Amino acid sequence: MARLIDAKCRECRRIGEKLFLKGERCYTPKCAMVKRPYPPGAHGKTGRRGGPSEFGRQLRAKQRVKKTYGVLERQIKKYFREAQAQKGDSRENLMKKLEMRLDNVVYRLGWMKSRASARQLVNHGQILVNGKRVDIPSFQVKTEQVITLSNKIKKSKLMENLATSLKKYEPPKWLVLDKEKMEARILGAPDADDLGDLAPVGMIVEFYSR
Ligand code: SF4
Repeated sequence: MARLIDAKCRECRRIGEKLFLKGERCYTPKCAMVKRPYPPGAHGKTGRRGGPSEFGRQLRAKQRVKKTYGVLERQIKKYFREAQAQKGDSRENLMKKLEMRLDNVVYRLGWMKSRASARQLVNHGQILVNGKRVDIPSFQVKTEQVITLSNKIKKSKLMENLATSLKKYEPPKWLVLDKEKMEARILGAPDADDLGDLAPVGMIVEFYSR
């Protein structure tokens, strides 16, 4: 099975912005984008002259979204094809597909500090959808589905830390989280407000529409 193995901080430095791939470390001065805010490599500091071309900007936007959500080229291509085949704005459709992945939902619920650890939790079969174990990170959640943690996780040390860290955390409004039961319900697909800036996904749509 193909995996994303590039060092996470190098990805941020290559793309030129924080992608928050390492959980808590990303919010500290230890973040590589704070310590070395230039591209990796021998010529990273000196950089290239002039801005990137239109193609370069689109490619960078695609890399940024892929790295942020931890998806591979063939997955994002598949999402794009499906998004285009659906009614409505392709950018919104594509963004919804990324947001409604099970690993992203676990991350958005605040149960894990990064999408990578959320994906690991799903891979290890610790997430239930409507009471059934689902170990596929790309699983698309649907309206009214109920997402819960496995009993093993509920009894683990992780839960004590989670209860504290969730006190001040509010998930996006398309997810309803019961912090006592550690149970979440999918209210519906995220709307335009939840999806935020669609410019990078817009560039992906342009990239694949060439
Ligand atoms: Fe990116 Fe986080 Fe590494 Fe900073 S610490 S460079 S935000 S992955």
